[in-house]
Amino acid sequence: MAKTQQIIQNALEQGKGVLRLAPNWVPRAFCIPGKRLKLHPQDYYAFGAHRGGIDERWFASTTKADNGPETLPDEGLSYIYLRDGGQIEKVLLKDAIEVAGNDILGKEVMQKFGGWLMFSKFFDNEEPLPHHMHQDDETAANVGQKGKPEGYYFPPQLNNHGGYFPYTFFGLNPGTTKEDVKKCLENWDKGDNGILYLSSAYKLKPGSGWDVPPGILHAPGSLLTYEPQRASDVFAMFQSLVWDMYTPWDLLVKDVPEEYKHDLDYIVNMLDWEANVDPNFYANHYLDPKPVKPLEEMRAEGYEEYHIVYNSEYFGAKELTILPKRSVTIKENAAYGAIVVQGTGKFGVLDIEAPAMIRFGQMTNDEIFVTAKAAQDGIVITNDSETDPLVMLKHFGPEV
Ligand SMILES: [Zn+2]
Repeated sequence: MAKTQQIIQNALEQGKGVLRLAPNWVPRAFCIPGKRLKLHPQDYYAFGAHRGGIDERWFASTTKADNGPETLPDEGLSYIYLRDGGQIEKVLLKDAIEVAGNDILGKEVMQKFGGWLMFSKFFDNEEPLPHHMHQDDETAANVGQKGKPEGYYFPPQLNNHGGYFPYTFFGLNPGTTKEDVKKCLENWDKGDNGILYLSSAYKLKPGSGWDVPPGILHAPGSLLTYEPQRASDVFAMFQSLVWDMYTPWDLLVKDVPEEYKHDLDYIVNMLDWEANVDPNFYANHYLDPKPVKPLEEMRAEGYEEYHIVYNSEYFGAKELTILPKRSVTIKENAAYGAIVVQGTGKFGVLDIEAPAMIRFGQMTNDEIFVTAKAAQDGIVITNDSETDPLVMLKHFGPEV
């Protein structure tokens, strides 16, 4: 650990409290890539075709992907990257937080949470997913897990096409009964179990988002999605057939205790019923970006910043735009990760830029992690371009 400690100290010194992270790709055997992750078109099957295409890029992750028996030991985990003279050093963000958590996240966060409890990802699927839910803390505890809230934002820069179905079904139509849902589960092996007849879809709009607490059914549509989330992987799929692709019952009861795997009451009671049939679902969960300060004030200072994922106690996200040729000092209360989606410039002492295309295994200058102290002191962010805005998405953990 002495060597790890040394690399982290060097990285913190070199970046003045800002760490560079290497691209962190995750394949999915059950998904078809939407090919909007900026990967070279020939690299989407770089893990081997049998592992599925690359559908996701994870950010600021200390969470290993739960991706079947062939999951690599470091799959899903973010690496800190340091170029030290001619040497290249890499350390897992997870290991760095274990040995230097106070320097990276700050003492208060380490005392209260013991580490970094969220990560974010780009989710890039050509087709919709099955109508599914994530358990809450109480239900997840029955299988030794934690509940999983999610938030979505659809970055315009990465949504030049919407995929095959840019609409998401949420919840259940008001008036739906638990008996209706149980009937769908009874019909699991008869073809389409009809769960989507009980739900309504919303057209997904680039530059907007949704707040999805645990217990709510959702069948995510095919926009590329920036998705901050709590570090947990519990779910239950309620739809038996998606575009003629069969969902095995196992994926409904993956996080159901052995004795309840065929207990329809237990399964339906995992849902937050009131939230699913809420007649005001749209008003209560749709997220329009909210300026962090009056827009005129920010523009005069050379930037625009919005809360893009909010209302969750477990994470949050902002979109920051530095206007062309402007330089702004941005302060935050806590450590955060960021991904640059457009433009080029400087983030403190580090060069940052949004690449046009990335080869699998190649380093980029588009992802960083900002320590608590550097965030609180403020970072000077400069846009070098005369024409292009510098745009980044910033993800935060729970507030202390
Ligand atoms: Zn989900």
